Amino acid sequence: MKAALLYGPRDLRVEAAREPRLEPGEVIVRVVAAGLCGTDYSIWTGDRPVDYPRVMGHELVGNVEAVAADVTAFRPGGRVVVEPNYGCGRCPLCLEGNRNLCLSRRAVGIDVDGGFAELVRLPSRCCWPAPAVAETDALLLTEPLAVVVRAVDRGAPRRGESAAVVGAGSLGLLALQVLRARGARVLVVSRTPRRFALARELGAAATHAITDGALGETARHFSGREGVDLVVETAGTAGAVAHALELARPGARVVVTGLPHEPTPVPFFSVVRREITITGSMIYQDEFGEALRLVASGAVQTRPLITHRFSLDRIGEAFAAHAEPASIKVALDL
Ligand SMILES: [Zn+2]
Ligand SMILES: [Zn+2]
Repeated sequence: MKAALLYGPRDLRVEAAREPRLEPGEVIVRVVAAGLCGTDYSIWTGDRPVDYPRVMGHELVGNVEAVAADVTAFRPGGRVVVEPNYGCGRCPLCLEGNRNLCLSRRAVGIDVDGGFAELVRLPSRCCWPAPAVAETDALLLTEPLAVVVRAVDRGAPRRGESAAVVGAGSLGLLALQVLRARGARVLVVSRTPRRFALARELGAAATHAITDGALGETARHFSGREGVDLVVETAGTAGAVAHALELARPGARVVVTGLPHEPTPVPFFSVVRREITITGSMIYQDEFGEALRLVASGAVQTRPLITHRFSLDRIGEAFAAHAEPASIKVALDL
């Protein structure tokens, strides 16, 4: 089979690879489409080291090719969406339900070979039957959507509340839509106005470019009070928490998802004096089913976010496209 193997930073080669062999509890999926995200990009550049050679790819839709003898939940031919993270299932964190926090958590496409390949081997628990009504393209963003569903719901949005999303990349544009589905009015804040027309199409009530300044003023005007009730940070920049705090009203909740590895300055005086609740959110626990429902029902539109598509042979161009300002989600067609 054909696979894209990463031999080292920026050394990605599409070549013939050994076909995966089934182990008990596993399925082999023939990949139909794969999404490329910032995690793949940081692995590709070497910022996030992995064991080489590695096949990346964790945002996957495909068809079941084969199942191990002990797997009864799937049969060859069915279309599936891949949930690529899995805990050990045995530690105290996993047993209490915090499997996203498992210290032995593994991720397909990062810790084990993933789906930038014609075939991928997966634990069967990583597969979800694709809803019949949803097209493959629409399902391609289910994985990042599950991340966003958890982040939004960690902020406990209530119908009629005002919310702000910091960042208008793929996660921000998904967070906007999940907040809308939860009944919130949403202000989208971004470094540039590049995505604001799309944000409005997807339901943003207002937009604000950070370079225009006066974030607090905009939040007060938008909310009709001291600031917004809830902020979901998706920007992944060191300044994002400070921006979130400027938008928040006293007593607000701020959910943080996308921070970079370098230290993030946080004005804690403002947190204490205004009783802001800051909540971290890490991938997902049990949100995958809800993400599939939101796609299948049409409450979340994912296809407008796919801006580029490439065949596996052109994966180098796909990584270049990911870095372009005009790209939101780059897809590979296998
Ligand atoms: Zn990803
Ligand atoms: Zn565990």
